[in-house]
Amino acid sequence: MQMVTSRKSSAKTTASAIASRLEAAHAHCRARGSRLTTQRKEILELLLLRGGSAKAYDLQDDMRARHGRVAPSTVYRALEFLMAQHLVHRVDALNTFIVCNADHVAHHPLLLVCSNCEAVTELQDDAIYKTVQSTLRHAGASFVESEIEVKGICGKCQPQQREAR
Ligand SMILES: [Zn+2]
Ligand SMILES: [Zn+2]
Repeated sequence: MQMVTSRKSSAKTTASAIASRLEAAHAHCRARGSRLTTQRKEILELLLLRGGSAKAYDLQDDMRARHGRVAPSTVYRALEFLMAQHLVHRVDALNTFIVCNADHVAHHPLLLVCSNCEAVTELQDDAIYKTVQSTLRHAGASFVESEIEVKGICGKCQPQQREAR
């Protein structure tokens, strides 16, 4: 099981780290036969600059600061493309978008949303995914291929929780 956390406070992402992430994303899209256009790449860059997690309107603000007027649809279309490429995930609980930290192949992220600090930890656990899928099937429901979100307390918030008791 892999574990990677997107956290605003640890946003010490250097310019060179961002550049290499963007280069990798570019190669990833090319290998899939899709195109990371300048605009799509810029949205990913802005998301990385915000520490890997942001709301769509924050990204729209960042775009506006760089280019003047920007339509919300421009941002959403770019985000939808990035999600389809498994480069970005939507976090419904927080209404944010996070940069995927796993290998960008199709995968089934289990997103742990910390109730204390709102950090999102991306976990990979195919067994849980399959269990949810079959439980829904038995209930006569259908499963939408998506992230599974779980509320919890992240690892970094655990010691504080103990001290508070
Ligand atoms: Zn992911
Ligand atoms: Zn936390």
